[in-house]
Amino acid sequence: MKVIIAGAGLGGLCLAQGLSKAGIGFEVYERDAAFDSRTQGYRIRIDHSGQQALAACLPSDLYNAFENTAALPAPVYTLDTRMQTMEDKWVDQWIRDEREIPADLKADRHTLRRVLMQGIEDHVHFGKELTAYSEQPDQTIQCLFADGETATADVLVIANGAASTLVAGCFPGTSLHDTGDICIYGKAPWNGELQQLLREGTNVIFGENIAGIIDVMQFNRTTRSSVMPPEDYLYWALIGQRSSFGLQPGQSLRLSVPQLQEAVAQATSTFPDALSPLFTGAAVTAGAIVPVRHSVQGGRSQQVRVTVSGDAIHTMSPAAGLGANTALRDAAALAAHLKKSADGHLPLMETLLNYEQEMLSYSAAAISASKKGSALLYNSGDNP
Ligand SMILES: Cc1cc2nc3c(=O)[nH]c(=O)nc-3n(C[C@H](O)[C@H](O)[C@H](O)COP(=O)(O)OP(=O)(O)OC[C@H]3O[C@@H](n4cnc5c(N)ncnc54)[C@H](O)[C@@H]3O)c2cc1C
Repeated sequence: MKVIIAGAGLGGLCLAQGLSKAGIGFEVYERDAAFDSRTQGYRIRIDHSGQQALAACLPSDLYNAFENTAALPAPVYTLDTRMQTMEDKWVDQWIRDEREIPADLKADRHTLRRVLMQGIEDHVHFGKELTAYSEQPDQTIQCLFADGETATADVLVIANGAASTLVAGCFPGTSLHDTGDICIYGKAPWNGELQQLLREGTNVIFGENIAGIIDVMQFNRTTRSSVMPPEDYLYWALIGQRSSFGLQPGQSLRLSVPQLQEAVAQATSTFPDALSPLFTGAAVTAGAIVPVRHSVQGGRSQQVRVTVSGDAIHTMSPAAGLGANTALRDAAALAAHLKKSADGHLPLMETLLNYEQEMLSYSAAAISASKKGSALLYNSGDNP
């Protein structure tokens, strides 16, 4: 069996690792020109289910590398804009103290992707945008890339993220609902300057219709593994209603860097002045602003060996930290299902349908939990 995966994000790479472990042939095709041609965010919180999925897909040395390169566990603090503790605000999916078991692990996204690339580099092809696909008379799937080349496989997995248009072909009716809310994120060096104000862990600051998440990312650099963690840093994300950023409903999010900095300044205007250097000093890049959207999930229309995973079918608000965890869960589930067909226990189409039934159920629950998270975090006007 040969599988083509379109998209080398967290979900696509984790699936590739899972297939490699299961002895199933695969090739990953990624639109980006190179592995690090674009920043794909900074901190990513991997919960128990994400960890289980990674453990299922990765060989043990790579799983250890993921654990060893995650930030040191620390508690989550809910705070008002004067940095005083708030007791009545909590998103169900958060773990109060990462030192509890099972603890969430805070991975540096770039480092995690490097871990996920290890050992499969020769099967990941960059500068390869999948533009179309078609079923051949023998039921294999032929993929067409923007550069005119083609590739054929028994199964195509569409794992190309939230903006996927390819998904509409196999799951008609799938669309993105834009809540009108937005998220801007950034990173700054952690040099201890803000130590007086920030607690060592996750600081969640509740403003009016806006929330700020500031994570102190400190790494253990003494453990040797095949991938080393980055320097310590502060990760921050602001999520809220557009008006909190001084933006109009429907206004384009293609903002210049000065416009982005102005939006950040507006959103944090009620935060302590002492935090300003964190936001103003950070290099906010144009790609660091994202709309908060939710997938409206369609259903399969044809018995074609094309399936979908990750944000392409279940985009959700980052409020509950479930998007990547759900994409990793897809990877482990799909790899396990495909193994049954590869071993001759189940026809391929039946395998895909079984996976999709499972995936659509837990991902719909995750989308729903994320909507609730948005409502709690910043009073999202978009009703859950
Ligand atoms: C600020 C922020 C913080 C977040 N924090 C968390 C968190 O803490 N925990 C969590 O679980 N989730 C979090 N998320 C959500 C998480 O980032 C996503 O759910 C996750 O990245 C989805 O993975 P994916 O592999 O499905 O898609 P992506 O990571 O988007 O990868 C898709 C890949 O496909 C490629 N691609 C696109 N089109 C094509 C094409 N036509 N052909 C080939 N390749 C293509 C893209 O270049 C990309 O590399 C956060 C999101 C944001 C915005």
